[in-house]
Amino acid sequence: MGANAGTGANGEIAPRYDTLIAGGVVVDPGAGLGGRLDVAIAGGRIAAVAADIDPALARQTIDAGGRIVTPGLVDLHTHVYWGATYWGIEADPVAARTGVTTWLDVGSAGAYSFPGFREWIAERSAVRVFALLNLSSIGLIAPTWEFANPDYCDIGLAEQIVAANRDVILGIKARIDRNTTRGVGIRALELARELADKVDLPLMTHIGFGPPSLDEVVPLLRPGDILTHCCTGGDMKIVGDDGLTRADILGLRERGLILDVGHGTGSFSFASAEAMLEQGVLPDVISSDIHQLAVQGPMFDLPTTLSKFLALGMTVEQVVERATSRPAAAMRRPDLGSLRPGSAADVALFELVEGDYTFHDVQMIPRRGTQRLVNTLTLVDGEPLERSEERPLQPWAVLPEHQRAAISVATGE
Ligand SMILES: [Zn+2]
Repeated sequence: MGANAGTGANGEIAPRYDTLIAGGVVVDPGAGLGGRLDVAIAGGRIAAVAADIDPALARQTIDAGGRIVTPGLVDLHTHVYWGATYWGIEADPVAARTGVTTWLDVGSAGAYSFPGFREWIAERSAVRVFALLNLSSIGLIAPTWEFANPDYCDIGLAEQIVAANRDVILGIKARIDRNTTRGVGIRALELARELADKVDLPLMTHIGFGPPSLDEVVPLLRPGDILTHCCTGGDMKIVGDDGLTRADILGLRERGLILDVGHGTGSFSFASAEAMLEQGVLPDVISSDIHQLAVQGPMFDLPTTLSKFLALGMTVEQVVERATSRPAAAMRRPDLGSLRPGSAADVALFELVEGDYTFHDVQMIPRRGTQRLVNTLTLVDGEPLERSEERPLQPWAVLPEHQRAAISVATGE
């Protein structure tokens, strides 16, 4: 049965759609779609988005009454190389409870470990998995220090791996902070810049606690690059002591630098985020930096991170756009993160649950909120993801003490 209606042998009209998601409120600012609309799916693709589509045209109908219907979320900062790296979690079980259908793994794999990432993770996951290749050939097998041995920065080898895997590798990753670069300083970022330019892909740079300083980092950023951990409270933070976002960062952003949240375990400060928002500097992308530690809280998952920005005053439309079409554009894959007819039928349903919530940043500073996005159903290529049990965390996945204590109080565990 294809997407076209036809007349069966008994004279009845055959259904035109496989699935109809009916009665929900569509939120897809990137595609210019919003409001009370039904979403029809045929052959794994979005076939129509319109008001009051006749359920008789569909083989099955999903009741989305009381739900927000968005494109499957696109998480621009994740770590999903389970079993071969310090940080990796498994994407599929988390996707089924969070609505994240496209996962960009940023730097878990370097040249030596990318073949395994491709075969065991990218090709076997039910969700869409893409990667930024780490400049360091060993990737993130350990928690940090990946640039401390410059022998692992092999640009020629990385170029070969990129050339053979351009369907999966969408950019280059370099974590730049005092631990990752120990002893080599800004040299690692200079080499990452050279590699990104050679392969003509975006460079994602992580910032946190220096040295190096942000003064050394900024001259190496280019339009189209991604600066992740943009709301860090670390000493490389983009908000100055005067509370203003640095002029050089804003200038680069005017020309296309992407400011990405990447919450993680150590990289999200309410004070930094509030200072930016007060100036009207909204992050371009809201991502999770989900990994073995962050999944335990206070980050938890991408919908929780989006809910934190709702608590800071952003609208549902603004946060959804920053977790769908905006990250897809940053990945140079504007076909993803969209409900536009013809797109892959990656769809997420959410309940916007009203209540009295307390959210925390990585220093466990609290903020009150009244809304929480809770995922209720996730479809990839038109098929619902089954919820399944997640693997136990790795023995080394122990939260910093200040987070562990506060989270156990908050959750009563
Ligand atoms: Zn990360």
